[in-house]
Amino acid sequence: MSEELNPFKIAQEELDAAAETMGLDKTAHAILREPKRILTVNIPVKMQDGTTKVFNGFRVLYNDARGPGKGGIRYHPLENVDTVKALSAWMTWKTSLANIPFGGAKGGVICDPKTLNDFELENLSRGYIRALGRAIGPKVDIPAPDVYTNPQIMAWMMDEYSELVGYDEPGVITGKPLEIGGSEGRFDSTAMGGMYVLREAAKTINLDLKNSKIIIQGFGNAGMFAFEIATRLSGGKVIGVSDSEGGIYDPDGIDYNKLLEAKKRTGKVQGYEKGQKVTNEQLLELDADVLIPAAIENQITAANADRIKTKIVLELANGPVTPDADKILFEKGILDMPDFLVNSGGVIVSYFEWVQDIGGYYWTQEDVYKRLDTIITRSFNDVIGMQKQYAANGKKISPRTAAYIVAVDRVARAMKFRGWY
Ligand code: GLU
Repeated sequence: MSEELNPFKIAQEELDAAAETMGLDKTAHAILREPKRILTVNIPVKMQDGTTKVFNGFRVLYNDARGPGKGGIRYHPLENVDTVKALSAWMTWKTSLANIPFGGAKGGVICDPKTLNDFELENLSRGYIRALGRAIGPKVDIPAPDVYTNPQIMAWMMDEYSELVGYDEPGVITGKPLEIGGSEGRFDSTAMGGMYVLREAAKTINLDLKNSKIIIQGFGNAGMFAFEIATRLSGGKVIGVSDSEGGIYDPDGIDYNKLLEAKKRTGKVQGYEKGQKVTNEQLLELDADVLIPAAIENQITAANADRIKTKIVLELANGPVTPDADKILFEKGILDMPDFLVNSGGVIVSYFEWVQDIGGYYWTQEDVYKRLDTIITRSFNDVIGMQKQYAANGKKISPRTAAYIVAVDRVARAMKFRGWY
């Protein structure tokens, strides 16, 4: 049988496996297998040429037992409801594992943002918010950026929502520019959180990060900052990096500033002049200490997991490792740190942004990073603690399964207290 690659089926499969291991209550399991609410919206958008084009979008609220929904909005030509459902489930486990007072949600609009100008992007973003109306809100469901959305888009959305309710409401959305209620440290928070997890993971296997070799797949918001922060904080060297067009490999280490300059000038990582060109597939299989998938879903599958050579896989993207690949990596003794732990820095600092917006008092960047470190290191320890608890009873579970058990148990207990089952 071929491997399941539908992201929502994968999300359900992962939940089912955890439910079985932890002996989850059947009703709780049934509630948690499907989203609470799926909204489909139809958005007429005035285009630059005077015509009106209709776009389709979604907002899925997966679960709100622990607090209002939380999760980003993606603009993507291949967006579909199953991907958004999966991502909303993963947000539920992400906020729960971080132990911040939110549930999980996600949104998406089917569009190719590369073909839209600012006028059209603004109209689309405002139209999406008008279509969602009161289904979002600082106490209902709080969106944020994700693939191909950015602080400017969050600003338009916040403004549209404020118009709708009749007062300024910065707490409705996170990832905003600093000028209108954004938080210090939000932009590189996903990568920063990932680096704190890497620091802790390296300690558990006695890996000296200063002399380590790192590979990064993806050079978007997460991958780019991961490159910069990893080399600056750990002292390790990045020997391979890629974007959607392909990668480069240089065993002597890639120079961040030169790479950035080449990417700006040529639009691709392969514009970098030194080193050797590799495909995205070859990049994943290079010999190094740490592999950071920071692009999209389903990159490490049953087809290539066996050829991964690093000691640590740090999942900075959402869903880069399939359940079958997860088993293979675990059997090979590779420490695979799951996405909803590694990339939770983004939503953790979103939480800080929401708290600051509600309180109207803003923190320093130093404060933000310190609090992020405290929360994400606590999550890491919760995962390792759960693994040890099972090991003490003679059962070996992967970090992903351990993370699921911690997260699902918290959501199930919240639902129980609320009387949902
Ligand atoms: N889109 C990010 C994620 O997948 C951030 C979500 C948020 O800040 O709400 O975690």
